[in-house]
Amino acid sequence: MEPFKLLIGGELVDGGATMEVINPATEEPVATCPRAGKADLDRAAAAAKAAFPAWSASPVETRRQALGAMADAIEANATELARLLTLEQGKPLQDATAEVYGAAAFFRYFASAELPETRVQEGGRSRVEIRRRPLGVVAAIVPWNFPLILMSFKVPAALLAGNTVILKPAATTPLATLRFGELVKDLLPAGVLNVIADANDLGAELTKHPDIAKISFTGSTATGRRVMAGAADALKRITLELGGNDAAIVLDDVDPKETAPKIFQAAFYNAGQVCIAAKRIYVHESIYDAMCDELASLADAAVVGDGLEQGTQIGPLQNRAQFEKVLDYIEDGRKNGRIIAGGERTSDRGYFIRPTIVRDIEDGSRLVDEEQFGPVLPIISFNDADDAMTRANASEYGLGGSIWSKDVDRAHRLAERMESGTVWINKHADLAPHIPFAGAKMSGIGAELGQEGLAEFTQIQVINIAQ
Ligand code: NAD
Repeated sequence: MEPFKLLIGGELVDGGATMEVINPATEEPVATCPRAGKADLDRAAAAAKAAFPAWSASPVETRRQALGAMADAIEANATELARLLTLEQGKPLQDATAEVYGAAAFFRYFASAELPETRVQEGGRSRVEIRRRPLGVVAAIVPWNFPLILMSFKVPAALLAGNTVILKPAATTPLATLRFGELVKDLLPAGVLNVIADANDLGAELTKHPDIAKISFTGSTATGRRVMAGAADALKRITLELGGNDAAIVLDDVDPKETAPKIFQAAFYNAGQVCIAAKRIYVHESIYDAMCDELASLADAAVVGDGLEQGTQIGPLQNRAQFEKVLDYIEDGRKNGRIIAGGERTSDRGYFIRPTIVRDIEDGSRLVDEEQFGPVLPIISFNDADDAMTRANASEYGLGGSIWSKDVDRAHRLAERMESGTVWINKHADLAPHIPFAGAKMSGIGAELGQEGLAEFTQIQVINIAQ
Protein backbone atom coordinates (compact mmCIF):
# COMPACT_ATOMS: atom_id res chain seq x y z
CA MET A 1 0.00 0.00 0.00
CA GLU A 2 1.30 3.49 -0.89
CA PRO A 3 2.17 5.51 2.21
CA PHE A 4 -0.54 7.85 3.48
CA LYS A 5 0.02 11.59 3.78
CA LEU A 6 -1.70 14.60 5.24
CA LEU A 7 -2.71 17.34 2.81
CA ILE A 8 -1.63 20.73 4.14
CA GLY A 9 -1.28 23.88 2.06
CA GLY A 10 -1.35 21.90 -1.18
CA GLU A 11 1.51 19.62 -0.10
CA LEU A 12 1.38 15.95 0.87
CA VAL A 13 3.24 15.80 4.15
CA ASP A 14 3.98 13.52 7.08
CA GLY A 15 2.56 14.49 10.43
CA GLY A 16 4.48 15.06 13.63
CA ALA A 17 3.94 11.38 14.50
CA THR A 18 2.38 8.19 13.14
CA MET A 19 -0.37 5.83 14.22
CA GLU A 20 -1.62 2.39 13.27
CA VAL A 21 -5.00 1.78 11.74
CA ILE A 22 -6.59 -1.54 12.71
CA ASN A 23 -8.73 -3.76 10.49
CA PRO A 24 -11.76 -4.55 12.67
CA ALA A 25 -12.26 -7.89 10.88
CA THR A 26 -8.81 -9.18 11.84
CA GLU A 27 -7.69 -6.85 14.65
CA GLU A 28 -4.44 -6.52 12.71
CA PRO A 29 -2.91 -3.29 11.42
CA VAL A 30 -4.01 -2.22 7.93
CA ALA A 31 -1.47 0.56 7.60
CA THR A 32 0.54 3.13 9.45
CA CYS A 33 -0.68 6.61 8.86
CA PRO A 34 0.51 10.10 9.69
CA ARG A 35 -0.83 11.70 12.83
CA ALA A 36 -1.12 15.47 12.91
CA GLY A 37 -0.09 17.40 15.97
CA LYS A 38 -0.96 20.93 17.03
CA ALA A 39 1.79 22.34 14.76
CA ASP A 40 0.30 20.54 11.74
CA LEU A 41 -3.14 21.86 12.62
CA ASP A 42 -1.74 25.39 12.88
CA ARG A 43 -0.13 25.00 9.47
CA ALA A 44 -3.39 23.70 7.98
CA ALA A 45 -5.35 26.57 9.53
CA ALA A 46 -2.82 29.14 8.28
CA ALA A 47 -2.93 27.63 4.78
CA ALA A 48 -6.73 27.60 4.73
CA LYS A 49 -6.86 31.16 5.98
CA ALA A 50 -4.37 32.31 3.35
CA ALA A 51 -6.29 30.56 0.59
CA PHE A 52 -9.64 32.03 1.61
CA PRO A 53 -9.54 35.51 -0.01
CA ALA A 54 -8.79 34.25 -3.51
CA TRP A 55 -11.07 31.20 -3.29
CA SER A 56 -14.02 33.17 -1.94
CA ALA A 57 -13.54 35.77 -4.68
CA SER A 58 -13.24 33.18 -7.44
CA PRO A 59 -16.12 32.86 -9.92
CA VAL A 60 -18.63 30.29 -8.72
CA GLU A 61 -18.11 28.53 -12.06
CA THR A 62 -14.49 27.84 -11.04
CA ARG A 63 -15.68 26.26 -7.81
CA ARG A 64 -18.29 24.22 -9.65
CA GLN A 65 -15.67 22.87 -12.01
CA ALA A 66 -13.42 21.91 -9.10
CA LEU A 67 -16.25 20.03 -7.39
CA GLY A 68 -17.10 18.21 -10.61
CA ALA A 69 -13.46 17.23 -11.05
CA MET A 70 -13.38 15.98 -7.45
CA ALA A 71 -16.43 13.81 -8.15
CA ASP A 72 -14.66 12.43 -11.24
CA ALA A 73 -11.56 11.67 -9.17
CA ILE A 74 -13.59 9.81 -6.56
CA GLU A 75 -15.30 7.71 -9.22
CA ALA A 76 -12.10 7.02 -11.12
CA ASN A 77 -10.55 5.63 -7.94
CA ALA A 78 -13.66 3.92 -6.58
CA THR A 79 -12.08 0.49 -6.42
CA GLU A 80 -9.17 1.59 -4.24
CA LEU A 81 -11.26 3.87 -2.03
CA ALA A 82 -13.90 1.18 -1.45
CA ARG A 83 -11.27 -1.38 -0.51
CA LEU A 84 -9.69 1.04 1.94
CA LEU A 85 -13.08 1.74 3.47
CA THR A 86 -13.73 -1.95 3.97
CA LEU A 87 -10.28 -2.53 5.43
CA GLU A 88 -10.50 0.26 7.97
CA GLN A 89 -14.24 0.45 8.63
CA GLY A 90 -15.27 -3.18 8.20
CA LYS A 91 -18.33 -2.74 5.98
CA PRO A 92 -19.01 -5.18 3.13
CA LEU A 93 -17.21 -4.21 -0.06
CA GLN A 94 -20.44 -3.64 -1.99
CA ASP A 95 -21.60 -1.19 0.68
CA ALA A 96 -18.21 0.52 0.66
CA THR A 97 -18.48 0.83 -3.11
CA ALA A 98 -21.96 2.32 -2.76
CA GLU A 99 -20.57 4.79 -0.22
CA VAL A 100 -17.82 5.88 -2.62
CA TYR A 101 -20.23 6.44 -5.52
CA GLY A 102 -22.62 8.14 -3.12
CA ALA A 103 -19.87 10.55 -2.10
CA ALA A 104 -19.19 11.38 -5.75
CA ALA A 105 -22.91 12.01 -6.29
CA PHE A 106 -23.01 14.44 -3.35
CA PHE A 107 -20.05 16.36 -4.83
CA ARG A 108 -21.89 16.52 -8.15
CA TYR A 109 -25.08 17.75 -6.51
CA PHE A 110 -23.27 20.65 -4.85
CA ALA A 111 -21.37 21.36 -8.07
CA SER A 112 -24.67 22.42 -9.56
CA ALA A 113 -26.37 23.85 -6.47
CA GLU A 114 -27.33 27.52 -6.40
CA LEU A 115 -26.82 30.20 -3.78
CA PRO A 116 -29.21 32.72 -5.24
CA GLU A 117 -29.18 36.38 -4.36
CA THR A 118 -32.76 37.32 -3.50
CA ARG A 119 -34.66 40.58 -3.30
CA VAL A 120 -37.13 40.97 -0.45
CA GLN A 121 -38.21 44.47 -1.38
CA GLU A 122 -38.20 46.56 -4.51
CA GLY A 123 -39.99 49.89 -4.26
CA GLY A 124 -41.45 51.87 -1.37
CA ARG A 125 -38.17 53.83 -1.33
CA SER A 126 -35.95 50.80 -0.81
CA ARG A 127 -34.36 47.98 -2.67
CA VAL A 128 -33.38 45.23 -0.22
CA GLU A 129 -31.16 42.38 -1.35
CA ILE A 130 -30.15 39.31 0.54
CA ARG A 131 -26.80 37.85 -0.29
CA ARG A 132 -24.86 34.93 1.13
CA ARG A 133 -21.24 35.44 2.03
CA PRO A 134 -18.80 32.65 2.87
CA LEU A 135 -17.65 32.37 6.47
CA GLY A 136 -13.92 31.67 6.17
CA VAL A 137 -12.19 28.48 7.29
CA VAL A 138 -14.53 25.56 8.01
CA ALA A 139 -13.52 22.56 10.11
CA ALA A 140 -15.30 19.43 8.89
CA ILE A 141 -15.18 16.76 11.60
CA VAL A 142 -16.38 13.28 10.71
CA PRO A 143 -17.08 10.05 12.67
CA TRP A 144 -16.03 6.50 11.79
CA ASN A 145 -19.25 4.95 10.50
CA PHE A 146 -19.37 6.58 7.02
CA PRO A 147 -16.07 8.41 6.52
CA LEU A 148 -16.58 9.36 2.87
CA ILE A 149 -20.29 9.95 2.61
CA LEU A 150 -20.40 12.09 5.74
CA MET A 151 -17.49 14.25 4.63
CA SER A 152 -19.33 14.76 1.35
CA PHE A 153 -22.28 16.27 3.26
CA LYS A 154 -19.87 19.02 4.29
CA VAL A 155 -16.85 19.55 2.05
CA PRO A 156 -18.52 20.30 -1.31
CA ALA A 157 -21.16 22.56 0.25
CA ALA A 158 -18.52 24.51 2.17
CA LEU A 159 -16.32 24.86 -0.91
CA LEU A 160 -19.14 25.87 -3.25
CA ALA A 161 -20.10 28.65 -0.85
CA GLY A 162 -16.52 29.96 -1.05
CA ASN A 163 -15.08 28.70 2.23
CA THR A 164 -11.82 26.87 2.67
CA VAL A 165 -11.76 23.63 4.64
CA ILE A 166 -9.84 21.54 7.13
CA LEU A 167 -11.21 18.00 6.99
CA LYS A 168 -10.61 15.63 9.88
CA PRO A 169 -11.74 11.99 9.81
CA ALA A 170 -12.10 9.85 12.94
CA ALA A 171 -8.96 8.35 14.44
CA THR A 172 -9.92 4.78 13.59
CA THR A 173 -10.92 5.47 9.95
CA PRO A 174 -8.53 8.02 8.41
CA LEU A 175 -7.25 6.09 5.39
CA ALA A 176 -9.88 6.53 2.66
CA THR A 177 -10.15 10.21 3.61
CA LEU A 178 -6.40 10.77 3.41
CA ARG A 179 -6.33 9.02 0.03
CA PHE A 180 -9.18 11.26 -1.10
CA GLY A 181 -7.05 14.26 -0.10
CA GLU A 182 -4.21 13.00 -2.27
CA LEU A 183 -6.51 12.38 -5.23
CA VAL A 184 -7.93 15.90 -5.23
CA LYS A 185 -4.75 17.76 -4.28
CA ASP A 186 -4.17 19.24 -7.72
CA LEU A 187 -7.82 20.01 -8.40
CA LEU A 188 -7.93 22.96 -6.01
CA PRO A 189 -5.60 25.87 -5.25
CA ALA A 190 -3.17 25.13 -2.40
CA GLY A 191 -4.74 25.44 1.03
CA VAL A 192 -8.38 25.40 -0.12
CA LEU A 193 -8.80 21.86 1.22
CA ASN A 194 -6.56 20.45 3.94
CA VAL A 195 -6.89 16.92 5.30
CA ILE A 196 -5.42 16.00 8.65
CA ALA A 197 -5.69 12.85 10.77
CA ASP A 198 -5.44 12.76 14.55
CA ALA A 199 -5.52 10.20 17.35
CA ASN A 200 -8.85 11.60 18.57
CA ASP A 201 -6.96 14.39 20.29
CA LEU A 202 -7.16 17.44 18.00
CA GLY A 203 -10.92 18.02 18.09
CA ALA A 204 -10.81 20.47 20.96
CA GLU A 205 -7.96 22.43 19.32
CA LEU A 206 -9.88 22.60 16.06
CA THR A 207 -13.00 23.79 17.81
CA LYS A 208 -11.34 26.69 19.54
CA HIS A 209 -8.77 27.54 16.87
CA PRO A 210 -8.81 31.30 16.25
CA ASP A 211 -8.41 30.92 12.46
CA ILE A 212 -11.45 28.65 12.12
CA ALA A 213 -14.82 30.33 11.62
CA LYS A 214 -17.19 27.39 11.52
CA ILE A 215 -17.36 23.86 12.84
CA SER A 216 -19.40 21.36 10.88
CA PHE A 217 -19.46 18.36 13.16
CA THR A 218 -20.93 14.87 12.88
CA GLY A 219 -20.54 12.55 15.83
CA SER A 220 -21.94 11.71 19.22
CA THR A 221 -24.10 14.00 21.30
CA ALA A 222 -21.51 13.95 24.10
CA THR A 223 -18.80 15.29 21.79
CA GLY A 224 -21.29 17.68 20.15
CA ARG A 225 -21.77 19.37 23.51
CA ARG A 226 -18.02 19.83 23.82
CA VAL A 227 -17.89 21.32 20.32
CA MET A 228 -20.62 23.79 21.22
CA ALA A 229 -18.87 24.79 24.43
CA GLY A 230 -15.51 25.15 22.64
CA ALA A 231 -17.06 27.31 19.94
CA ALA A 232 -18.90 29.57 22.39
CA ASP A 233 -16.14 32.04 23.23
CA ALA A 234 -15.72 33.19 19.65
CA LEU A 235 -19.42 32.61 18.83
CA LYS A 236 -18.34 30.36 15.99
CA ARG A 237 -20.96 29.04 13.66
CA ILE A 238 -21.72 25.40 14.30
CA THR A 239 -23.67 22.66 12.64
CA LEU A 240 -24.05 19.58 14.79
CA GLU A 241 -25.30 16.24 13.44
CA LEU A 242 -25.39 14.04 16.51
CA GLY A 243 -26.68 10.79 17.89
CA GLY A 244 -30.11 9.29 17.42
CA ASN A 245 -32.41 6.63 18.76
CA ASP A 246 -34.85 6.38 15.87
CA ALA A 247 -38.12 4.65 16.61
CA ALA A 248 -40.02 2.72 13.94
CA ILE A 249 -43.73 2.39 14.72
CA VAL A 250 -45.37 -0.54 12.96
CA LEU A 251 -49.17 -0.29 12.85
CA ASP A 252 -51.58 -3.20 12.93
CA ASP A 253 -52.35 -3.23 9.19
CA VAL A 254 -48.90 -4.13 7.83
CA ASP A 255 -47.90 -7.49 6.48
CA PRO A 256 -45.00 -8.68 8.69
CA LYS A 257 -43.51 -10.81 5.93
CA GLU A 258 -43.36 -7.89 3.55
CA THR A 259 -42.23 -5.28 6.07
CA ALA A 260 -39.73 -7.21 8.19
CA PRO A 261 -36.95 -7.26 5.53
CA LYS A 262 -37.19 -3.47 5.16
CA ILE A 263 -37.00 -2.95 8.90
CA PHE A 264 -34.17 -5.45 9.17
CA GLN A 265 -32.20 -3.52 6.57
CA ALA A 266 -32.94 -0.21 8.34
CA ALA A 267 -31.69 -1.63 11.63
CA PHE A 268 -28.70 -3.70 10.59
CA TYR A 269 -27.17 -1.89 7.62
CA ASN A 270 -23.52 -1.10 8.41
CA ALA A 271 -23.87 -3.44 11.43
CA GLY A 272 -26.35 -0.99 12.93
CA GLN A 273 -23.71 1.75 13.06
CA VAL A 274 -25.86 4.34 11.35
CA CYS A 275 -27.05 7.54 13.02
CA ILE A 276 -30.46 7.06 11.41
CA ALA A 277 -30.71 3.30 11.86
CA ALA A 278 -34.05 2.07 13.18
CA LYS A 279 -32.92 1.52 16.78
CA ARG A 280 -36.16 0.55 18.57
CA ILE A 281 -39.19 -0.99 16.91
CA TYR A 282 -42.67 -0.50 18.34
CA VAL A 283 -44.99 -3.14 16.89
CA HIS A 284 -48.75 -3.44 17.36
CA GLU A 285 -49.59 -6.38 19.60
CA SER A 286 -51.75 -8.06 16.93
CA ILE A 287 -48.72 -8.65 14.70
CA TYR A 288 -46.01 -8.60 17.38
CA ASP A 289 -45.24 -12.33 17.39
CA ALA A 290 -45.23 -12.56 13.61
CA MET A 291 -42.93 -9.54 13.26
CA CYS A 292 -40.52 -10.83 15.92
CA ASP A 293 -40.39 -14.23 14.20
CA GLU A 294 -39.74 -12.70 10.77
CA LEU A 295 -36.98 -10.47 12.11
CA ALA A 296 -35.41 -13.37 13.99
CA SER A 297 -35.31 -15.56 10.88
CA LEU A 298 -33.72 -12.76 8.88
CA ALA A 299 -31.14 -12.35 11.66
CA ASP A 300 -30.44 -16.09 11.71
CA ALA A 301 -29.96 -16.14 7.94
CA ALA A 302 -27.69 -13.07 7.76
CA VAL A 303 -24.11 -13.68 6.68
CA VAL A 304 -21.71 -12.01 9.11
CA GLY A 305 -18.07 -11.85 8.11
CA ASP A 306 -15.08 -10.01 6.77
CA GLY A 307 -16.33 -7.28 4.43
CA LEU A 308 -13.80 -8.36 1.80
CA GLU A 309 -15.39 -11.80 1.52
CA GLN A 310 -18.04 -12.15 -1.11
CA GLY A 311 -21.51 -12.69 0.28
CA THR A 312 -20.91 -10.87 3.57
CA GLN A 313 -23.99 -8.87 4.56
CA ILE A 314 -22.87 -7.61 7.95
CA GLY A 315 -19.30 -6.76 8.81
CA PRO A 316 -17.66 -6.31 12.21
CA LEU A 317 -18.20 -3.45 14.63
CA GLN A 318 -15.76 -0.74 13.70
CA ASN A 319 -13.64 -0.60 16.83
CA ARG A 320 -13.06 -2.38 20.10
CA ALA A 321 -14.72 0.25 22.28
CA GLN A 322 -17.92 0.10 20.22
CA PHE A 323 -17.78 -3.71 20.16
CA GLU A 324 -17.62 -3.84 23.95
CA LYS A 325 -20.37 -1.27 24.28
CA VAL A 326 -22.68 -3.32 22.07
CA LEU A 327 -21.91 -6.54 23.99
CA ASP A 328 -22.95 -4.64 27.08
CA TYR A 329 -26.26 -3.62 25.46
CA ILE A 330 -26.83 -7.27 24.59
CA GLU A 331 -26.46 -8.13 28.27
CA ASP A 332 -29.03 -5.46 29.07
CA GLY A 333 -31.34 -7.06 26.50
CA ARG A 334 -30.79 -10.48 28.05
CA LYS A 335 -31.67 -9.10 31.47
CA ASN A 336 -34.69 -7.04 30.48
CA GLY A 337 -36.06 -8.96 27.50
CA ARG A 338 -35.77 -12.22 25.58
CA ILE A 339 -33.11 -12.75 22.93
CA ILE A 340 -34.58 -14.69 20.01
CA ALA A 341 -31.69 -14.39 17.54
CA GLY A 342 -27.98 -13.73 17.84
CA GLY A 343 -26.76 -12.61 21.23
CA GLU A 344 -23.13 -13.46 20.89
CA ARG A 345 -19.87 -12.64 19.15
CA THR A 346 -19.05 -15.00 16.32
CA SER A 347 -15.34 -15.67 16.75
CA ASP A 348 -12.36 -14.85 18.93
CA ARG A 349 -10.87 -12.71 16.21
CA GLY A 350 -12.47 -9.55 14.85
CA TYR A 351 -15.25 -7.43 16.32
CA PHE A 352 -18.08 -9.57 14.97
CA ILE A 353 -21.48 -9.78 16.62
CA ARG A 354 -24.40 -11.68 15.12
CA PRO A 355 -27.52 -9.58 14.48
CA THR A 356 -29.44 -9.79 17.70
CA ILE A 357 -33.21 -9.50 18.16
CA VAL A 358 -34.58 -8.81 21.63
CA ARG A 359 -38.33 -9.15 22.27
CA ASP A 360 -40.51 -8.68 25.38
CA ILE A 361 -38.54 -5.62 26.36
CA GLU A 362 -39.91 -2.27 27.52
CA ASP A 363 -39.03 1.39 27.59
CA GLY A 364 -36.92 2.11 30.64
CA SER A 365 -34.26 -0.47 29.77
CA ARG A 366 -30.94 0.87 28.52
CA LEU A 367 -31.21 -0.99 25.22
CA VAL A 368 -34.46 0.82 24.40
CA ASP A 369 -33.69 4.23 25.88
CA GLU A 370 -30.07 4.69 24.75
CA GLU A 371 -28.33 4.66 21.39
CA GLN A 372 -26.89 1.16 20.94
CA PHE A 373 -25.22 1.94 17.58
CA GLY A 374 -24.75 -1.71 16.74
CA PRO A 375 -26.46 -4.92 15.61
CA VAL A 376 -28.87 -5.41 18.50
CA LEU A 377 -32.50 -4.47 18.08
CA PRO A 378 -35.22 -4.21 20.74
CA ILE A 379 -38.83 -4.92 19.66
CA ILE A 380 -41.47 -3.40 21.90
CA SER A 381 -45.18 -4.25 21.84
CA PHE A 382 -47.96 -1.62 21.91
CA ASN A 383 -51.72 -1.64 21.73
CA ASP A 384 -52.42 2.04 21.08
CA ALA A 385 -50.64 3.99 18.35
CA ASP A 386 -50.92 7.31 20.19
CA ASP A 387 -49.30 5.76 23.21
CA ALA A 388 -46.54 4.29 21.01
CA MET A 389 -45.89 7.78 19.65
CA THR A 390 -45.73 9.24 23.15
CA ARG A 391 -43.15 6.58 24.07
CA ALA A 392 -41.21 7.16 20.87
CA ASN A 393 -41.09 10.88 21.69
CA ALA A 394 -39.99 10.32 25.27
CA SER A 395 -36.35 10.48 24.21
CA GLU A 396 -33.70 13.14 24.37
CA TYR A 397 -32.95 12.32 20.73
CA GLY A 398 -34.92 13.40 17.68
CA LEU A 399 -32.95 12.47 14.58
CA GLY A 400 -35.30 10.32 12.48
CA GLY A 401 -38.17 7.93 12.84
CA SER A 402 -40.64 5.98 10.76
CA ILE A 403 -44.28 4.91 10.62
CA TRP A 404 -45.30 1.75 8.82
CA SER A 405 -48.88 1.30 7.64
CA LYS A 406 -50.95 0.46 4.56
CA ASP A 407 -52.97 3.60 5.35
CA VAL A 408 -50.67 6.48 4.41
CA ASP A 409 -53.09 9.17 5.66
CA ARG A 410 -53.21 7.56 9.07
CA ALA A 411 -49.43 7.22 9.09
CA HIS A 412 -49.09 10.85 8.03
CA ARG A 413 -51.27 12.07 10.91
CA LEU A 414 -49.05 10.19 13.32
CA ALA A 415 -45.87 11.33 11.56
CA GLU A 416 -46.80 14.96 12.21
CA ARG A 417 -46.56 14.25 15.92
CA MET A 418 -43.12 12.69 15.82
CA GLU A 419 -40.46 14.90 17.43
CA SER A 420 -37.72 14.23 14.91
CA GLY A 421 -35.96 16.01 12.07
CA THR A 422 -37.10 13.41 9.54
CA VAL A 423 -40.03 11.00 9.55
CA TRP A 424 -40.21 8.33 6.89
CA ILE A 425 -43.41 6.51 6.00
CA ASN A 426 -43.03 2.89 4.93
CA LYS A 427 -39.27 3.29 4.68
CA HIS A 428 -36.42 4.39 6.92
CA ALA A 429 -33.03 6.05 6.52
CA ASP A 430 -33.49 7.42 3.01
CA LEU A 431 -31.22 10.45 2.46
CA ALA A 432 -30.40 12.38 -0.70
CA PRO A 433 -28.30 15.48 -1.35
CA HIS A 434 -31.29 17.69 -2.18
CA ILE A 435 -33.22 16.77 0.98
CA PRO A 436 -32.26 18.72 4.12
CA PHE A 437 -31.21 16.56 7.03
CA ALA A 438 -31.53 17.94 10.55
CA GLY A 439 -31.74 16.58 14.06
CA ALA A 440 -34.32 17.73 16.60
CA LYS A 441 -33.66 17.93 20.35
CA MET A 442 -30.26 16.49 21.31
CA SER A 443 -29.71 15.03 17.85
CA GLY A 444 -28.32 18.24 16.51
CA ILE A 445 -28.36 21.88 15.65
CA GLY A 446 -28.82 23.18 12.14
CA ALA A 447 -29.09 21.17 8.96
CA GLU A 448 -26.98 19.55 6.31
CA LEU A 449 -27.77 18.93 2.64
CA GLY A 450 -30.26 20.71 0.42
CA GLN A 451 -30.53 24.50 0.28
CA GLU A 452 -30.74 24.67 4.07
CA GLY A 453 -27.49 22.75 4.49
CA LEU A 454 -25.71 24.90 1.92
CA ALA A 455 -26.91 28.08 3.62
CA GLU A 456 -25.25 26.98 6.87
CA PHE A 457 -21.87 27.54 5.27
CA THR A 458 -22.72 31.19 4.73
CA GLN A 459 -23.48 34.39 6.55
CA ILE A 460 -26.55 36.37 5.51
CA GLN A 461 -25.75 39.83 4.25
CA VAL A 462 -28.54 42.32 3.68
CA ILE A 463 -27.87 45.25 1.36
CA ASN A 464 -30.56 47.85 1.89
CA ILE A 465 -30.50 50.67 -0.67
CA ALA A 466 -32.49 53.89 -0.43
CA GLN A 467 -34.42 54.59 -3.61
P1 NAD B 1 -17.41 10.95 18.33
O1 NAD B 1 -18.23 12.08 18.79
O2 NAD B 1 -16.64 10.19 19.33
O3 NAD B 1 -16.34 11.42 17.24
C1 NAD B 1 -16.70 12.13 16.08
C2 NAD B 1 -15.54 12.97 15.61
O4 NAD B 1 -15.29 14.00 16.57
C3 NAD B 1 -14.23 12.23 15.44
O5 NAD B 1 -13.58 12.74 14.28
C4 NAD B 1 -13.46 12.63 16.70
O6 NAD B 1 -12.05 12.55 16.54
C5 NAD B 1 -13.90 14.06 16.87
N1 NAD B 1 -13.73 14.61 18.23
C6 NAD B 1 -13.44 13.95 19.38
N2 NAD B 1 -13.39 14.83 20.41
C7 NAD B 1 -13.66 16.06 19.90
C8 NAD B 1 -13.78 17.36 20.47
N3 NAD B 1 -13.62 17.57 21.77
N4 NAD B 1 -14.08 18.37 19.64
C9 NAD B 1 -14.29 18.17 18.33
N5 NAD B 1 -14.19 16.96 17.73
C10 NAD B 1 -13.88 15.91 18.51
O7 NAD B 1 -18.42 10.03 17.52
P2 NAD B 1 -18.16 8.57 16.95
O8 NAD B 1 -18.17 7.61 18.09
O9 NAD B 1 -16.99 8.63 16.02
O10 NAD B 1 -19.47 8.37 16.04
C11 NAD B 1 -20.64 7.76 16.48
C12 NAD B 1 -21.70 8.79 16.82
O11 NAD B 1 -21.92 9.67 15.72
C13 NAD B 1 -23.07 8.18 17.09
O12 NAD B 1 -23.65 8.82 18.21
C14 NAD B 1 -23.86 8.49 15.85
O13 NAD B 1 -25.26 8.52 16.01
C15 NAD B 1 -23.31 9.82 15.48
N6 NAD B 1 -23.56 10.10 14.07
C16 NAD B 1 -24.44 11.10 13.76
C17 NAD B 1 -24.74 11.36 12.43
C18 NAD B 1 -25.71 12.42 12.05
O14 NAD B 1 -25.69 12.84 10.89
N7 NAD B 1 -26.57 12.90 12.93
C19 NAD B 1 -24.11 10.62 11.42
C20 NAD B 1 -23.23 9.61 11.79
C21 NAD B 1 -22.96 9.37 13.12
